Amino acid sequence: MSRTAIISDIHSNYHALCAVVGDALDCEQCTEFVCIGDIVGYNAYPCECLDYIRQLACPVVKGNHDEEVVAPSAAKMNPVAREAMKWTIAQLGDVRREWLSGLQYQRIVRPRGSERSFTIVHSTLDQPKIWSYIVNANDAAGSFTRQITQFCFNGHTHVPKVYMWNGRSAAEDYDAQHNLIMHGYTEVLPVEGYKYCINVGSVGQPRDNDPRACYAIYDSEANMVIIKRVVYDVASAQDAIRSVGLPEYLAERLGRGC
Ligand code: ZN
Repeated sequence: MSRTAIISDIHSNYHALCAVVGDALDCEQCTEFVCIGDIVGYNAYPCECLDYIRQLACPVVKGNHDEEVVAPSAAKMNPVAREAMKWTIAQLGDVRREWLSGLQYQRIVRPRGSERSFTIVHSTLDQPKIWSYIVNANDAAGSFTRQITQFCFNGHTHVPKVYMWNGRSAAEDYDAQHNLIMHGYTEVLPVEGYKYCINVGSVGQPRDNDPRACYAIYDSEANMVIIKRVVYDVASAQDAIRSVGLPEYLAERLGRGC
């Protein structure tokens, strides 16, 4: 049996990262990990989170915040994110930033012992370098045209969602969304002939009004995906943000999950 934990948008939240990795290992028997970017930014532990991900020695793709610490752009980043970015850049040494700069934008991953592969990308497969967002089925359609594996996992919006593609049009899997909201857990069993684009939500800064960390699990033997929420110590993550002097809004939003 091979189970891969798929984590995204950690954003320097070490408390959430430790809770999710613990859940993946102890509760879900995951033996492998992949990370779909935005390891850093916003929260108080960029070095600790980056070092932890490197220790996992797993496939990683680049997020827009990971790119920003290496090559700051004039692009639209809101003032709070910009301030956190400045602080983050000062924390990360050259070696860590160099490692981030070497990450690819998308990868195809084959879990050990599996014949099936899946794709990982932070934003979209059709425009991975301009960081566009998939917020509806129409946006997903563009990415599906470039998807050669049955499953693609992404992040970037910090909102977990499941999109399906029948070769002509995309649709949102509302049942999966409903289950996740109601139970903090949902299973995605693929329908024959469909491809799936699954946003795994955010480990370190959820934005769907649920403060719990979110991640996904791919079971290669059953060929199915689980998305689940994990409780973590939000108060300690908030205290850390305040103690390093990052904007109060960043602490407050973790409590609201948005
Ligand atoms: Zn992000």
